[in-house]
Amino acid sequence: MTEEIRKLVIAGSGVAGLSAAVYAARADLDPLVLEGDEPGGQLTLTTDVENYLGFPEGVGGMELILRGKEQAEQFGAEFQHGSIEAAGLNGQPLELSLSTGDTVYTWALIVATGASARWVDAENEDELMGHGLSTCATCDGAFHRGDDVLIAGGGDSAMEEAVFLAKFADNVTVVHRREELRASKITADRAREHDDTEFARNTELVTIQGSQEDGVTGATLVSHPNGYPREKYEAGGDVATEDFGVGGVFYAVGHEPNTDFLRETPVDLDKDGYVQTADTGDAWATTATATDGVFAAGDVMDREYQQAVTAAGTGSMAALDVEDWLESAAEVATDSTEPIATEADD
Ligand code: NDP
Repeated sequence: MTEEIRKLVIAGSGVAGLSAAVYAARADLDPLVLEGDEPGGQLTLTTDVENYLGFPEGVGGMELILRGKEQAEQFGAEFQHGSIEAAGLNGQPLELSLSTGDTVYTWALIVATGASARWVDAENEDELMGHGLSTCATCDGAFHRGDDVLIAGGGDSAMEEAVFLAKFADNVTVVHRREELRASKITADRAREHDDTEFARNTELVTIQGSQEDGVTGATLVSHPNGYPREKYEAGGDVATEDFGVGGVFYAVGHEPNTDFLRETPVDLDKDGYVQTADTGDAWATTATATDGVFAAGDVMDREYQQAVTAAGTGSMAALDVEDWLESAAEVATDSTEPIATEADD
């Protein structure tokens, strides 16, 4: 048995992966896009995207993704279900073991696996996730018409979710662990405009009550005027405790990069697991990692901006960087789809 070696595999089908796919397909790199565990990525969980260039009236997140996929397919990108479970990245060709059981060989890999919603670590969250506890207000908000709901987080996502939930819920309480919000003024002001939205500052969620049959019924909150009450509570300190009757709890406390499959590889990750791209030397920026043939784009390598438009930008950069690399890497450039022998040939 022989295996084809792909020129390029793109792991992830969010806006970064799709943008890379459009550029790579147009450059005849025949990219294979692995759609990942959350096909379409974070944008599929968003209603209206108002700040993506070229859509003055806004565009639905899902629509933007579907149109991007259509665009990539139109140029010849191939899409396949599944994600990378293990990767052999110590030499060429790169070897990718997929969740589908398949193994794919490739000269170049663009990691565009994004970042997934972080959890708070409240008691009962494992049991109640999907049963009144959610990480996506735009997906699950409509289930909470007439409920009181609580959102954990103080960033832009929490503010956006508060605005969205105010359409359905009777009361929305935003629970933030310190006094100052992390959110920008514009998103915070939008959340504050709603009379039925309240802010519980210096407050954290420690327990969620309910069951899978009845859904979420309440939450226990702790607060302390100096902020970060949970660590004081866990250390046995003097914090105020309040039981809160709510029908839904939403987490909006940031994201974790999806890089578990890179942990045993030579690809450099920072302390939080984000992919580190290589020292650029005299170039302004690069999407190349220090590992030959491995590139990264989107939220998985950008912990700073994490915007759809920047993810699209780094996706296109990664495809251009791969194109250059394939041209300059002598052992690859000669015959990039030459079959290789696998152990099954013996
Ligand atoms: P952020 O990292 O910006 O905010 C996370 C929030 O959750 C912070 O307030 C943080 O508190 C809090 N938090 C984190 N961990 C915990 C925990 N364990 N328990 C309790 N609270 C916790 O994430 P976002 O998802 O809000 O935003 C990500 C990026 O996307 C940002 O750059 C943001 O600007 C951008 N964005 C922009 C939007 C827009 O412009 N329309 C919309 C949505 C997102 P603390 O502040 O104390 O660290």
